[in-house]
Amino acid sequence: MYAVTKRIEFCYGHRLLDYNGVCAHPHGHNAVVEIEVSSTTLDARNMVVDFSEIRNVVKAWVDQELDHKMILRQDDPLVAALRALGEPMYLVDTNPTAERIARLIFDISRQHGLDVSRVTLWETPSSWATYTGA
Ligand SMILES: [Zn+2]
Repeated sequence: MYAVTKRIEFCYGHRLLDYNGVCAHPHGHNAVVEIEVSSTTLDARNMVVDFSEIRNVVKAWVDQELDHKMILRQDDPLVAALRALGEPMYLVDTNPTAERIARLIFDISRQHGLDVSRVTLWETPSSWATYTGA
């Protein structure tokens, strides 16, 4: 089995609802996301996929939708206030945890035709979440 991995960095803010801890308050992260594509075979170029193809698909989406935005649960009371101020947000239907954001990027990659096998999102250098779709 072959696997290639592309690393992308972005910044986001979030908070967790129904949660007791510091992450209940709005705060931000410098995130690192790894997108892995696996295959038992290589293409005519002897590649699983070109690194630039992963970059073009995923980084373009992340830059446009998530980078420097608040990622919030859609029923978060902050949404109305930030919307009124014209602040950019990305809304999800669950708490915007590292696990949820990893799955979001996994699903978006698949929707863009990238046959990803793993997405790992580092919230901090010592805390990360992985989604494999399995
Ligand atoms: Zn956080």
